[in-house]
Amino acid sequence: MNPQIPAEGIMKTNDWGNSRVYRVACNCHDENHNHNVWIEADESDIVVTIYTTGKTNWWSKTRWYHIWTLLAKGYIDTESSVHLSRQQALNYAETLKSAIDDVESFRNDRQNKAERAKVTKLAEQGDCE
Ligand SMILES: [Zn+2]
Repeated sequence: MNPQIPAEGIMKTNDWGNSRVYRVACNCHDENHNHNVWIEADESDIVVTIYTTGKTNWWSKTRWYHIWTLLAKGYIDTESSVHLSRQQALNYAETLKSAIDDVESFRNDRQNKAERAKVTKLAEQGDCE
């Protein structure tokens, strides 16, 4: 089984060259399980952020349970899981890999261009003789 392009279950929602955003959809079609995946190249590193917009499973326990938990712990735990088919999981992995490569080479190209521009400018000024 090979990763697909375009990839089933993976949607590219934004692309700014040095950063990309994908939405990985859960097989149960509940939007609250989706993964929002940000792959960004900063000056020297690659940062991958994956988040979900979870809802408190408020009705699974009594209100008093939640209020008591909130008072005692200061927060309420929520759990969210994303369910992927084999194909989707493979696509997810491949998307991460290729997006990391893409944003990294975009960043490197830009840095190289900036570097060349600097060298050219210095040469024009006669500082490089
Ligand atoms: Zn789900």
